[in-house]
Amino acid sequence: MSTFELIQKHGGHEEVVFCHDPSVGLKAIIAIHNTSLGPALGGTRMWPYKHEDEALVDVLRLSKGMTYKASAAGLNLGGGKAVIIGDPKKDKTEGLFRAFGQFVNSLNGRYITAEDVGTGVTDMEHVYMETPWVTGIPKDFGGSGDPSPYTAHGVLMGLKAAVKFKLGTDNLKDVRIAVQGLGNVGTNLVKYLTQEGAKVIVSDIDADKVKRHVDQYKVEGANPDQILFTECDVLAPCALGAIVNDQSIGKLKTKVIAGGANNVLAEQRHGDQLRELGILYAPDFVINAGGLMNVFVELEGYSPDRAFEKTRRVYDNCWKVFEIAKRDNVGTHIAADRMAEERIKTIGSLRQRHPGRSNRNFTTLREMTNR
Ligand code: NAD
Repeated sequence: MSTFELIQKHGGHEEVVFCHDPSVGLKAIIAIHNTSLGPALGGTRMWPYKHEDEALVDVLRLSKGMTYKASAAGLNLGGGKAVIIGDPKKDKTEGLFRAFGQFVNSLNGRYITAEDVGTGVTDMEHVYMETPWVTGIPKDFGGSGDPSPYTAHGVLMGLKAAVKFKLGTDNLKDVRIAVQGLGNVGTNLVKYLTQEGAKVIVSDIDADKVKRHVDQYKVEGANPDQILFTECDVLAPCALGAIVNDQSIGKLKTKVIAGGANNVLAEQRHGDQLRELGILYAPDFVINAGGLMNVFVELEGYSPDRAFEKTRRVYDNCWKVFEIAKRDNVGTHIAADRMAEERIKTIGSLRQRHPGRSNRNFTTLREMTNR
């Protein structure tokens, strides 16, 4: 398949930039999927892709996902993503990331980058030396730092909306919630859930993490092979993707799935099956948008209070998805896409017609801090 055919097949992106600088070994691709709602924001992934087409397909898929996530979150952002072809354990240099930063800068704010799998704070500091168009940078630089507490707070809000919709109460007292994965998001979620009086069951492949949570929060521990099949009201996946698959779906004993993990459904058809089984699924990109909301606030001039305030909106966003699913008689995974597409169409065309406030450029961090 030709490069243009691949781009067309994966969502008809606005712009795809191939970045090449042999002097520092840079081979990267920046994909801007859609800027109808605002500049395209999405992280930079570094991965040892075996073939360039594999990198291209990945960046096309991920950037399209960001368009939907930003739209469903109600943000004035479009969708973009970047991939750097290389091994993050061996190939990272200051020169590589600064050269990449120059390419980001050449897009003049149409694409804004951030950390992703394989890239970290130091890399973003190097990118930031060449361009202001980077978010999620350390607090010392005026950035918003670790997004996980905000992601987890958004998950709590979406989980409450799902419990209210399915069980008729948003009081989590004594609601049984099984959390898979005690990493950055899972740990914060367990803290919030225990504060709400929920009956929490936790699991991780790292037994030390389970023990620490059992001791600190007086929660129940479960075997990582069994957590998905625990009898509970809510299953909160906060580890891997594709946990709802052909092998697991028939064995789930939950009424709701609401967690932070990305790509929860192995395939779209599993969303239809969840609906048939009467399990309410809070779609991943809607419920885990708190981290994105947090970096958006960074673009407006960072304030942790405003970031937490924004993540509260995940409740309404999830609720709206559940209503659309009911209205259209479809699974919530389809309803979430419809909600995102409706907003891109309506607000995107408004922005074209009238240069309202949402069309203003963001003040970049560098301008705000006069660096
Ligand atoms: P993390 O790497 O900090 O934590 C993942 C945890 O899951 C680890 O403790 C790991 O040991 C555990 N784990 C792995 N396999 C497991 C298994 N089979 N059973 C039980 N536990 C297992 O990652 P994170 O930042 O907490 O992110 C968790 C998920 O949320 C990921 O899918 C990520 O893509 C998604 N997400 C994270 C954020 C964020 O702000 N960090 C934002 C949006 C989405």
